[in-house]
Amino acid sequence: MAEAKLIDGKAFALGLRARVGKGVDDLVAKSGFKPGLATVLVGEDPASQVYVKSKGRVAAELGMASFDHRLPTATTEADLLHLITALNHDRGVHGILVQLPLPKHIHTERVLRAIHPDKDVDGFHPMNVGRLGSIGPGLPLDFPVPCTPLGCSMLLTDVLGSLSGKNAVVVGRSTLVGRPVAQLLLRADCTVTMTHSRTRDLPAVCRAADILVVAIGKPAFVRGDWIKPGATVIDVGINRIPRDDGRTRLVGDVAFEEARYVAGHLTPVPGGVGPMTVACLMYNTLQEARRRVGMTFTATSD
Ligand code: NAP
Repeated sequence: MAEAKLIDGKAFALGLRARVGKGVDDLVAKSGFKPGLATVLVGEDPASQVYVKSKGRVAAELGMASFDHRLPTATTEADLLHLITALNHDRGVHGILVQLPLPKHIHTERVLRAIHPDKDVDGFHPMNVGRLGSIGPGLPLDFPVPCTPLGCSMLLTDVLGSLSGKNAVVVGRSTLVGRPVAQLLLRADCTVTMTHSRTRDLPAVCRAADILVVAIGKPAFVRGDWIKPGATVIDVGINRIPRDDGRTRLVGDVAFEEARYVAGHLTPVPGGVGPMTVACLMYNTLQEARRRVGMTFTATSD
């Protein structure tokens, strides 16, 4: 039985990071200033600390200025908003990333809305959500787009070339992943079906997909016999499950060992979509810095 080609997100992300690094050098040579990424972490959540640290490290590796703001859990919403206002006005900062989740006493939506839309490198500001929701087919993404969906779209274009006319099914409708993925696929002229926990006969809907993107957070939920033979499957899920030896391992939302004998192309977990998120954050930050100095936007690989 033919096996699916694995989509190497790790290698693609490394290539994208290298292109961003070259773009940073080019920007510095032509305009004399560095792109700057400010990360803001409120509280002590260990996973968030790891994410923020790796974002700052990668930014510095690519020649960007990195500004790391760590605030105690007890920080008030007013103090956080004050910091964001200062970062909005700081000309050395092109991207502001507020690590989620925020402590419960802080209103996440209010904080995300306070970030200037041009510095919203996570693409969560309502203005950027609206821009993506209303973009015409094939028009340039000249505003920040959420990083994980952008990564999914880049991988799909890399593997398939034109996506025009393909049937795409997106499983999961979160504002973080499912919805922006669907908008990007519409922009690429796919025929898009969005599904969720109330969808009737989800396996049958999935079987119609040339492109199947799954983002639900349920380990190995999508089975091999839900997949159309030869389809391209993007597994966004990251789930930690127990191993026999008492340790844990990461698995996606798709039953990998079943899917690999049906799909044409398939992202592994880990090593598929995961590495694209940070690479796309760097890409978004560079693009914002380029726009600031009026350098023409070039959609190199989206
Ligand atoms: P989320 O906000 O919890 O949304 C989950 C979505 O899945 C919801 O729309 C939900 O439907 C749908 N769903 C849940 N159970 C379902 C079922 N039985 N059948 C069909 N749909 C179902 O999750 P998320 O933030 O989008 O994240 C999804 C997964 O992606 C998680 O594993 C997360 O860790 C991973 N993720 C990875 C990256 C990365 O690779 N860097 C980034 C972000 C997220 P309803 O709306 O009807 O409830």
